[in-house]
Amino acid sequence: MAKTRSRKRAASLATRSIHAGEARRKFADSLTTPIIQSSTFTFKDSKEIEGYTRKGKDHYEYGRYGNPTVTIAEKRLADLEGSEDCVVFSSGMSAITTTILSLVQSGDHIVITDDSYKKTLEFCRSYLKQFAIDCTIVSFGDYNALDKAIGKNTRFIFSESPTNPYLNIFDLVKIKEIADRHKVLTLIDSTFATPYNQRPLEFGMDLVLQSCTKYLAGHNDILAGAVMGRTSLVDRIRNLHKSMGGTIDPHCCYMLLRGLKTFPLRVARQNETALTIARFLESHPKITRVYYPFLENHPHYAIATEQMRGGGGVVTFETKGTLRSAKQLLDALRLCYIGPSLGGVETLITHPAMVSYYDYTRKDRYALGIKDTLFRLAVGIEDAQDIINDLDRGLSKI
Ligand SMILES: *Cc1c(COP(=O)(O)O)cnc(C)c1O
Repeated sequence: MAKTRSRKRAASLATRSIHAGEARRKFADSLTTPIIQSSTFTFKDSKEIEGYTRKGKDHYEYGRYGNPTVTIAEKRLADLEGSEDCVVFSSGMSAITTTILSLVQSGDHIVITDDSYKKTLEFCRSYLKQFAIDCTIVSFGDYNALDKAIGKNTRFIFSESPTNPYLNIFDLVKIKEIADRHKVLTLIDSTFATPYNQRPLEFGMDLVLQSCTKYLAGHNDILAGAVMGRTSLVDRIRNLHKSMGGTIDPHCCYMLLRGLKTFPLRVARQNETALTIARFLESHPKITRVYYPFLENHPHYAIATEQMRGGGGVVTFETKGTLRSAKQLLDALRLCYIGPSLGGVETLITHPAMVSYYDYTRKDRYALGIKDTLFRLAVGIEDAQDIINDLDRGLSKI
């Protein structure tokens, strides 16, 4: 029953990305959502104050506690992810750290997979320790280890899928089984998938996290984050958010709302272009390995194609050659920008060894598989053939 409804809802994602959460009639009959650029909201009289404080009547008070433009983004994101509620933050990391902190107290334990976003791992491994919250990092894909890592004081499993940069795919059905057996919560960072490609709540995950900076806003121009889930959990997160203060600015939130209107179009295109490029790279003589979850030789191809609608816009690959030829490849590019991040309209390429892992020794990097000739391509929405031509020019330097 729930599945049928959600399938219908998935089909109308294009419509809901534009309209969900908004009133049809808006301030001054404006078509677009107004930016309510105000830190403070006023009360007409004492009766209105009482209505707000005693009866919880809908009213805004102060920007850190809520803003009408932000409310619309929260309603839209909740709708797209199929959740009861959502909180929007000033960045993905603000969403992740506030969410984690709202669920734990000292003496608790959490489990996280080793393939998670670097700063999420660092937060769990280092900062939570300061509050006597223990963290077990389990190797990605080792469901046995995950099962064994859970103890009496474990609060949740935090995972990510697909992951960066190898695009590993976590089997959501298996995580759910393990979590249910131990009665712990499941949190998933679904940034690389977006609600277009993956709907974790339908697999029973409790909370979904998004760095809206990436595909959802989609223009490489703002930072934003969100958490989605049922009201009882999201209320706790919203309360802590009011103290932590990772509040998104209303203007920035408008940019997010604008980006959201086209996100299904963009992600559909990015899925298609990334697969085309992955196939091009796979057959290129200078390439030794391509990682893309919708390529048949990806180790998680079966799970990926079962639980996702598309493989997303990131393609990771290894070339022949050395660090020197990797630099030559980068230096030959004229269309792809060299830079971190993903999900925007401009194609970006990054070299993890020189950027994200610059502070690691070569030995430590190689232990993680980050070779000198590894690249991560985050495709934009340019013409696929133009991107291929640019990569081909770079590869010819090797
Ligand atoms: C970028 C990213 C984050 C962090 O989000 P910010 O918006 O940069 O704070 C977290 N998780 C994943 C998977 C990301 O790609």
